[in-house]
Amino acid sequence: MSSAGDPASLATRPPALVPVSALKGVGPRRVAALAAAGLHSVADVLHRLPRAYQDRSARTSIADLRPGQDAVVVGRVLGLREGRGAKRRFLEVAVEDGTGSLLATWFQPPRWLRASFTVGADVVLMGRVDARFPPLRLAQPEFEAPGKEGPHRGGVVPLYGVPDGFGQRSWRSLVAQALEAYGGAARDPVPPELRARVGLPVRAQALRILHFPVDADDVPALRRGDHPAQQALLWEDLLVLQTALARRRLAWQARPAEPCAPGPIRRGILQALPFALTAAQRRVLAEIDADLARHRPMLRLLQGDVGSGKTIVTMLAAAAVIEGGRQVAVLAPTDVLAEQWAARARTRFGPEGVTLLTGSLGAAERRAADAAAAGGTPLVVGTHALLSQGTAFCDLGLVIVDEQHRFGVFQRARLRAKGPEPHLLAMTATPIPRSLALTIYGDLDASTLEEGPERGPLVTEFVEGARRPEVWNILRRAAQAGGRAFVVCPRVEGPGAGRAAVDTAEELADGPLEGIALGVLHGRMPASAKTAVLDRFRAGAIRVLVTTTVIEVGVDVPEATLVVIEDAHRFGLAQLHQLRGRVGRSERGGRCLLVGDPHPRLDLLVDCADGFALAEADLALRGPGDLVGARQAGAPAFALCTSPRFVDLLRSARREAAVLAARSDWAEAPELDVLRAAVDARLPRADVLQGG
Ligand code: ADP
Ligand code: MG
Repeated sequence: MSSAGDPASLATRPPALVPVSALKGVGPRRVAALAAAGLHSVADVLHRLPRAYQDRSARTSIADLRPGQDAVVVGRVLGLREGRGAKRRFLEVAVEDGTGSLLATWFQPPRWLRASFTVGADVVLMGRVDARFPPLRLAQPEFEAPGKEGPHRGGVVPLYGVPDGFGQRSWRSLVAQALEAYGGAARDPVPPELRARVGLPVRAQALRILHFPVDADDVPALRRGDHPAQQALLWEDLLVLQTALARRRLAWQARPAEPCAPGPIRRGILQALPFALTAAQRRVLAEIDADLARHRPMLRLLQGDVGSGKTIVTMLAAAAVIEGGRQVAVLAPTDVLAEQWAARARTRFGPEGVTLLTGSLGAAERRAADAAAAGGTPLVVGTHALLSQGTAFCDLGLVIVDEQHRFGVFQRARLRAKGPEPHLLAMTATPIPRSLALTIYGDLDASTLEEGPERGPLVTEFVEGARRPEVWNILRRAAQAGGRAFVVCPRVEGPGAGRAAVDTAEELADGPLEGIALGVLHGRMPASAKTAVLDRFRAGAIRVLVTTTVIEVGVDVPEATLVVIEDAHRFGLAQLHQLRGRVGRSERGGRCLLVGDPHPRLDLLVDCADGFALAEADLALRGPGDLVGARQAGAPAFALCTSPRFVDLLRSARREAAVLAARSDWAEAPELDVLRAAVDARLPRADVLQGG
């Protein structure tokens, strides 16, 4: 038996199977720090790619330094100062180079640090320029005596987002060690034949170039994110993800579904509608009908910006299934939205045809709702409560998930498992760029409502916080003219940062909006109170509704024409777009006032009313890592999605993935071993178990 500690046997093990503790210098403390950053295996370390590359042969004069720049500076030490700030000890070293001077600063410096500098001697400093307040600083820079050759200087050096407890230098050494000892054993998920055909470098080689590019000529491409080594890793990652999605889809469609077709119930609903469907709605409905007519479960995502009219389309899809005598389950993210759905559905399918099932029902009501679901009520709408074990259906034919991005893949699968191969229709308005949507929802067919119904214009303005009284005047006039308005606050109640709904409502009632019918709505109220308030707002008994993000998704009160978002800079872009979408839902159009501190996000909103365009802008601004759901849904591990070739790579990976996933020898082919393992790691376990 070979011992795990034998270095020779370790070196041949693939890095994914080697724990970080196998690396020299990684003891229990560092293991914990690495685990906290999500790094468990040596492969995790190797796949944490540099965030930037610094060409250390290119030095910058102090006079030319720009804030935020990662710079290399050579200068002479003018003096040293050690001291203690409010909390921490520090060491400051003043350096000048003939064009200017700066301070290098270290907090909690190790004892030996001071002795590394001699007044009058030259030093090379490498670090990020901080110019928020004078004098110019480099915080915690790396340093060298000039001319001294070491692994951390010379040509091109990688800069990382380092886990806690590491500096650039110690992290770089760790990566170098990992690469040296285990890089050669990195296993390629792409089968060799495909690798050769697509012309991919082997992974070990790609990793080496990405971490320690020897050639300065590689740097411009690496910085742009379109170096062949980067594209190769990205393509591999996309291939794994797309294969995982394709496998899931195959599992979900393994058993046949019962086809169904629209009839008199659908016709009745259409006749009673106060408007005609738009061309986009009709087209999407036809796509859904074609799915429903097949002997294969529908797996469809309905995308459409907020207000584009998704609900009625799904309602009409539900009609076709109910027509066939089967049940429909609707999963909504909030009880406010579930109630709204139930109320709408009752007008279409009759009060007997709809059961509401939320977590706020009393025990007896809950038993009655569960009994109704099990007994065959045509449409059951609810929140997460629907997923609980006690809720069963008699013949579930269609699962509708509203605001799909609020739910995990797991929950979607769990609801689907409550019926024999039900159809699935998921809706989302979350502004995810199309390229990413394909990445994340690649297992679903997509239908898109490109445009909503004809409506009046929706105008967005920014108002500096100091001009709040003008906003109150606008609100007052709107209410007096018979309009309806939302005032959205970031918090519910009490002292804290940002306005609170309850306090704001009191302030308005006693002052600027005295005599106007005001209401308050927030998530901490009991469900019945929430419904009552919303009903009164809909009916016009409340004119101004002071609220929180509880109305962020789905709430539809077409009469509302004005939304004031308080402390708007505290909300995310996607959230603001959703909140704004509460108005402008009729031919009267709408107005959105963003009140607070100036912020680039708010400028984007003022300039652009299209959710998809906003999402693209946001992606360019921040990278995909922060996008709603992108992380959790398994978007590519590295932030290369902004690569100009991303969509091409995605298309090609998707094509190859479809072929691989459909192979009849998928489960046994030895050349697919690594890919299979990677795919299994990508699919949530519960999904594999319950999806099929
Ligand atoms: P979302 O796509 O955000 O879920 P909804 O389905 O709630 O949007 O629709 C927004 C509003 O537009 C609702 O008040 C709905 O009744 C209305 N609506 C939907 N389709 C049409 C249409 N074809 N013509 C006019 N109004 C419509
Ligand atoms: Mg909706």
